[in-house]
Amino acid sequence: MCVQVCPTGIDIRDGLQVGCIQCAACIDACNEIMDKVGYPRGLIRYTTERQLSEKENTRVISPRLFAYLAVITILCGGVIYALTDRVPLEIDIRRDRNQLSSVNNQGMIENSYIVKLTNKTQEPHTYTITLAPQEGLSLELRFNDVPLEAGESFDMPVSIYGDPKVIDFEQTSVTLNVTSEDGQYKVSKQNVFTTQGQ
Ligand code: SF4
Repeated sequence: MCVQVCPTGIDIRDGLQVGCIQCAACIDACNEIMDKVGYPRGLIRYTTERQLSEKENTRVISPRLFAYLAVITILCGGVIYALTDRVPLEIDIRRDRNQLSSVNNQGMIENSYIVKLTNKTQEPHTYTITLAPQEGLSLELRFNDVPLEAGESFDMPVSIYGDPKVIDFEQTSVTLNVTSEDGQYKVSKQNVFTTQGQ
């Protein structure tokens, strides 16, 4: 019967063969016949060589299963966290490569940067760039607001000025904050302000 039901014409009694499409029709046919003649089911079945040699049943619940479940749970948790925690606003800060710093005509030490903003939402937003407060440092922007369409990027020239009468460092970390007009999206990025290289 198992040979007659096989769609690929395999005689499974000769063992597993390369033409088998794993449809399990022979297993059902075999079990049906075994039921009728009163013999145990499973003459044809999915099994392993180890199980056949050791004659032990496959343990469905095993420490390895719990280990796999734990790994899958951690991976799924990480993916969900990454998706839900993702801020659809990107900021990248590049320093002026030509000069580390310069002094303007008011005697202030200037560091220049290009701040690249990318609106990764599906709607237009207007973003504001601010400098995290730091004594002696101030921010100058070419535009106060940066309106961006959905998916649009913009390179904004930005200067940070240091008052040499106030600052007493050669180099410090500075943080630029970008906030959408409704306050829904906020990102921050650090860079360096230096008094060297004039
Ligand atoms: S599983 Fe399907 S294809 Fe494979 S031997 Fe059995 S009946 Fe044939």
